[in-house]
Parts: sequence; structure tokens; C-alpha cells
Amino acid sequence: MSMFDLSGKAAVITGGNGGIGLAMARALVDANCAVSIWGRNAAKLDSAVKELEARGGAVHALRCDVTDPACVLESFDAAVDRYGRIDGCFVNAGTGGGGRRSFLERSFEEWRRMLDVNLDAAFHVLQAAARHMAANAEAGQPGGRLVATSSIAALFGVARNEHYGASKAALNSLVRSLAVELARYGITANAILPGYSETEMTEGLFTNEKFRDAVIPRIPMRRFGKVEDFGGIAVYLMSDASAYHTADCFVIDGGYSSY
Ligand code: NAP
Repeated sequence: MSMFDLSGKAAVITGGNGGIGLAMARALVDANCAVSIWGRNAAKLDSAVKELEARGGAVHALRCDVTDPACVLESFDAAVDRYGRIDGCFVNAGTGGGGRRSFLERSFEEWRRMLDVNLDAAFHVLQAAARHMAANAEAGQPGGRLVATSSIAALFGVARNEHYGASKAALNSLVRSLAVELARYGITANAILPGYSETEMTEGLFTNEKFRDAVIPRIPMRRFGKVEDFGGIAVYLMSDASAYHTADCFVIDGGYSSY
């Protein structure tokens, strides 16, 4: 399986201290990739570091609110200082926006906050990563992986959560554009679109019996996603196996969007 051995590579994972991001970090560490995990919650960061180090991983944790462009730049530089070179960047931090409400009552502040976390922050992180990778390519070391955690909400009409759907659809478009522009540097860019998956973000939904009863029959696999369902794709996208795979949207939803 040497094609999936990530020894000598390093990845940044925003939102790497919990949920899908931490599951990606676990899988990357198990494939010998060094990781720099970012998040706001210091306790979650500490516990993620302990867990990943216990798996034998090289781990670097940074407290960073990705909506703060200065913090993003500082953190990216710190990750480069730590590992010398960043080979992959997983823009995974995101918000679900909390409670749902009608578009008729949506405040512009809620709309802006959603786009700030899910889209504008991705701009800052991806730009820092792309600049770093393009400079490496100019210096004779091409390559690099940009990955965004989007959502199947980008594919559907998401009533009462239109700002979330819009933020994720924009992310897909951003990724495709970067794939086309940055291919000349050997950089790939892809999006992962999870279906309903059990994390802190969706806790409220999954404990709601009415929601479970309505949604599970719509999922051909008859279960919600687990965070470990997203480890393999992270390893694949970091690995040499995906060198020619770019501009894609990987739907990982147990078949929900095809049913
Ligand atoms: P989660 O466990 O709540 O993880 C969200 C992560 O984002 C946390 O690590 C959180 O860290 C981080 N984060 C949020 N705002 C941040 C900020 N301003 N700065 C830095 N970090 C921030 O939920 P999850 O489900 O794993 O979410 C991960 C991604 O998957 C999100 O982009 C989400 O939209 C997407 N997604 C999830 C589902 C699902 O069903 N769970 C479905 C489709 C897409 P802190 O707690 O430290 O702030």
C-alpha cells in the first residue's frame, strides 16, 4: 500500500480538533502524515493532540479563529515553520448556523456570519496554502492538495438553512476554479460533500426522533454518516494515488442524494 503511505508529508486541517476534521487527522496520522490541527476550543485541541500523539503521530495544534485573516496567516506560517513544507490543506472548519428559520425572517447578520465562517475563512486559508504551494512549485517542488469540506446541502434546496446551502455551493465553485487555475503548479483542488453525519454540529438533529424517522428511510445505507467514513478520502486525496484527480466533488452520503 505504499501508494497511500504519506511519510514525509504534512497537512493543515482546520476544525481538526473534533468531528469530521479530527477523523481525517486520525486517518492521516495512521498513514504517517504530520498534521497541523486548528480550532478555537483549547480543551478540544489538547484532547485531540493527546489522542493523535498516542497513535504515534506528529501533531501540531494551533488555536485559530479562521474568520480572523491575521490569525490565519500567522498560523499558516507557524505550520510551515514546524514542518518545513505543507503538502495538503483541508479547509474543514464550518458552522451549521444553529437553529433554522424562514428566509423571510433571516437577518443579514446571520447571513454574513454564515458566509464569514464557511466561505470567507476558506478564502483566507486556501489562499495562504495556494501561495505557499505555488512558491514551492516555482522553486522546483510542484504539488499540493487543497480540500474543502462542503456538504450535500450544496446540491439541494435547503429550506430554512439557505445561507448554509449557499455557502457550501460557493465553496464547490471556488474549489473547481482553483483546480483549473492551479493545475499548472501540480496542485489539485477537490471538495468533499458529506451527507447527514453524527457530530457535535448535528447533535440536536439526531436526537430528534421525528427527524430520524423521516431521514433514515431516505438513506439507502440506512444509517447516518460516522466521522470515520471521512478518513479514507482524506488519505486518498493526500496520496500519490490522487495526483491526477482534481476539480471533483466527492459525495459521501450513503446514497442519500441518488435516491
Ligand atoms: P463539528 O464537530 O461541530 O466540527 C466543526 C469544527 O469547525 C470544529 O472543529 C470547530 O472547532 C471548527 N470551527 C468552527 N468555527 C470555527 C472558526 N471560526 N475558527 C476555527 N475553527 C472553527 O462538526 P462537523 O460535522 O465535523 O463539521 C465539519 C465540516 O463538515 C463543516 O464544514 C460542516 O459544514 C461539514 N458538514 C458536516 C455535516 C454533518 O452532518 N455533520 C454534513 C455536511 C457537511 P472549535 O469547536 O474549536 O471552534
